[in-house]
Amino acid sequence: MSCDVGLYGLAVMGQNFALNMASHGFRVCVGNRSPSKVELALSRAREEGDLPLYGSSDVEDFVRQLIKPRRVIILVQAGRPVDDTIALLTRYMEAGDVIIDGGNEWFQNTLRRSRELEGKGLHFVGMGISGGEEGARNGPCLMPGCTRAAYDIVEPILSKCAARVNDGPCSGYVGPVGSGNYVKMVHNGIEYGDMQLIGEVYDIMRTVLGLSNDEMAIIFDGWNGSELESYLIEITSKILSKRDDLTGEGHVVDYVLDKTGMKGTGRWTIQEAAERSVAAPTMAASLDARYISARKDERVRASTILRGPEMTSAEIPVHRGQMLDDLKSALYAAKVCSYAQGLGIIKSCSEDMNWNVSLSECARLWKGGCIIRAALLQKIQDALARDPKLPNLLLDPVIAAEMNERAAAWRRVIVVAIGYGVSTPALSGSLNYFDSYRRASLPANLTQAQRDFFGGHTYERTDRDGVFHTAWTDAH
Ligand code: NAP
Repeated sequence: MSCDVGLYGLAVMGQNFALNMASHGFRVCVGNRSPSKVELALSRAREEGDLPLYGSSDVEDFVRQLIKPRRVIILVQAGRPVDDTIALLTRYMEAGDVIIDGGNEWFQNTLRRSRELEGKGLHFVGMGISGGEEGARNGPCLMPGCTRAAYDIVEPILSKCAARVNDGPCSGYVGPVGSGNYVKMVHNGIEYGDMQLIGEVYDIMRTVLGLSNDEMAIIFDGWNGSELESYLIEITSKILSKRDDLTGEGHVVDYVLDKTGMKGTGRWTIQEAAERSVAAPTMAASLDARYISARKDERVRASTILRGPEMTSAEIPVHRGQMLDDLKSALYAAKVCSYAQGLGIIKSCSEDMNWNVSLSECARLWKGGCIIRAALLQKIQDALARDPKLPNLLLDPVIAAEMNERAAAWRRVIVVAIGYGVSTPALSGSLNYFDSYRRASLPANLTQAQRDFFGGHTYERTDRDGVFHTAWTDAH
């Protein structure tokens, strides 16, 4: 049998992406450590109309099924399993063949593997994939990072199987090896930010406005037909309207324990932001919110000891219609900040690593197939196409005008949330980011003077060039 491509690793992502490729007419050979998943994939392919899927539990046989240059996509658990799988595959693969790791991998691991495989003449692609199970099956967003030569070998498959938007497939050359994983990592950081922002808006709606799940579902559904149109807003509406089948009473969302899990890409994004000296308060707040949520027992205890404000709507008047309009504006503006921060991290790493990643292309890729797909990305793509060297998204005139229009509403939301004691770390973190970034003068002069006082760190002056140190007291 001659297959066009191999896919090793048949859990949620691998199985669905294999079927996706097969339904686009590619002959796919599938393999997995546990043979049962190979059988499952083959039976799904038969059920879906005899899709051209072939399987082998034997790695040598799996590799021999492939036409040359061989293309093998790995979709196993990130980390050590990827090294183990590469070690197995490379016993039988040859110079000129390509291995594509589609996992959520730390980009430095990808760089290391690429160097190791280069010695054997093998191409290595670190490819971010987003879209979950449904995206993998019907069209994900693909972010490959590799050499141009490797990209040319895999491009025909990727372009055909990715989601499609107005200006082409949501797959394209991101940059050299490592950059694809990096862009996917930041995508996940932005995803954390988006989810937290939506969660905070939901919290204000239910806590301050007293809205029911059904009322909120209708509001989010309406917002999905506006400038806020996005996958995450769409699923939020669906989640809020879902009745609980287990008890037959109420909505599922009210039975879900308020402890958020995570797998690591959000934490990596914040680590990278710190490493590159890029402020990312929206994403950092989202990560912190997950950490605090995980300490449920402590929070329950704290709730009996620590008091919030005894606010009523008489003290802070809240008009429902106005508040909903304000929340919509605040969510939009805060979301822009989250994207600005994420793109800033990519920009900084791309410059450090000489990757030459196009931020406008990142925005284009994210318009379809992935979890953060949103109407806003078209505006971001346009802004970055207007000025590819834009230091920060907020400096684009169109985006800046939108932010300015929404700032007053955003402030009203934060005032109400603080008054009612509803925590809004991402909404207010974004507003603080906006307020810090837009101010020509910050209190950093005092901080710098303090540094010079106790550490002799010196300072620059506003009135003349040079580096200065002051004897702040007689003792100095
Ligand atoms: P997963 O749960 O991350 O991994 C399970 C797969 O890894 C199984 O095929 C398993 O084989 C294999 N595996 C584990 N240890 C192995 C080892 N030492 N040697 C060989 N194979 C090993 O699967 P997934 O959720 O489909 O995700 C695959 C990759 O895509 C991950 O990197 C994930 O982060 C990324 N990703 C996932 C999603 C998502 O929504 N799930 C979205 C985007 C990206 P056995 O069957 O033999 O146990």
